[in-house]
Amino acid sequence: MKPAPFAYHKARSLDDAVAMLAANEDARLLAGGQSLIATLNMRLSAPAMLIDINGIGGLDGIAMKDGKVEIGALTRHTQAERSDVIARHAPLIARAMPHIAHVAIRNRGTLGGSIAFADPAAELPACLLALDGEVEATGPKGKRTIKAADFFLGLFETALAPDEMLTAIRLPAADKDSRVGFAELARRHGDYAIVGLAAAARASGRGLSDVRLAYFGVGNTPMRATKAEAALEKGDVNTAVAALDLDPEDDVQATAAVKKHLAGVLLRRVAAQLMEAR
Ligand SMILES: Cc1cc2nc3c(=O)[nH]c(=O)nc-3n(C[C@H](O)[C@H](O)[C@H](O)COP(=O)(O)OP(=O)(O)OC[C@H]3O[C@@H](n4cnc5c(N)ncnc54)[C@H](O)[C@@H]3O)c2cc1C
Repeated sequence: MKPAPFAYHKARSLDDAVAMLAANEDARLLAGGQSLIATLNMRLSAPAMLIDINGIGGLDGIAMKDGKVEIGALTRHTQAERSDVIARHAPLIARAMPHIAHVAIRNRGTLGGSIAFADPAAELPACLLALDGEVEATGPKGKRTIKAADFFLGLFETALAPDEMLTAIRLPAADKDSRVGFAELARRHGDYAIVGLAAAARASGRGLSDVRLAYFGVGNTPMRATKAEAALEKGDVNTAVAALDLDPEDDVQATAAVKKHLAGVLLRRVAAQLMEAR
């Protein structure tokens, strides 16, 4: 199948991209194209215009800024995978990255595209939520910051306004007491996960505090399991598994019951990772 006809605009700058978005109601941004082009080819979407943002300079860096890790929206997955800044200051992203698709896709796909697309089975939105990160949105009125907890609104739905572009992702930098864990179950490596879990916590004496468990593949958005978090802070993995407050639905990959069982399996694996010293 071929995509429906569309106009194409290569944005020369961020201002140009935002102005074109504001002026064209039915336009879509083209980043790595790894999700968008497939939806066009299958005619799941048929925007009137694509605004190609790949030529915009300065949107593909990874740097420490004001104590946070700032990742430009056009940063490719492979760039993040190989980044020393990510390895040292955002180890949860480093752990998640190899699970995202395959190298050919990671060479083109962008972190901004993955988060803006908000696939409920994707790894990075869950990592953003687990880390209590934020995104920078740029629109005709300027920039604003949106916390991860307020960003993912529904199935492929985010808090970005139609005339806004995601321009950066910011994550709190890890320190010596930061603990992270990541695990997912997929039929084949590189497939979207049946269920996945991204987690962050702080070492507190012999236990953990500030536990944040963000599941993916179990609902329309990445989901916190807050009762299980509280149980894990008390140091009891069995109670945490029993307390898992998730309500997945059957999908093409697995039944709700299987997903709930797998969520418990992942919690045990991730809890063990959280208890390890960095
Ligand atoms: C075979 C295959 C397997 C895959 N497996 C996985 C997987 O296991 N896990 C996973 O997470 N992903 C997976 N992906 C998707 C991949 O990670 C994509 O790179 C990612 O979802 C989208 O990034 P992109 O840069 O390609 O965005 P695009 O495809 O260019 O865009 C996706 C959507 O986001 C919008 N968008 C893009 N950038 C911005 C921005 N800066 N601001 C606002 N909106 C924007 C676009 O308009 C579009 O609606 C897979 C893809 C394929 C083809």
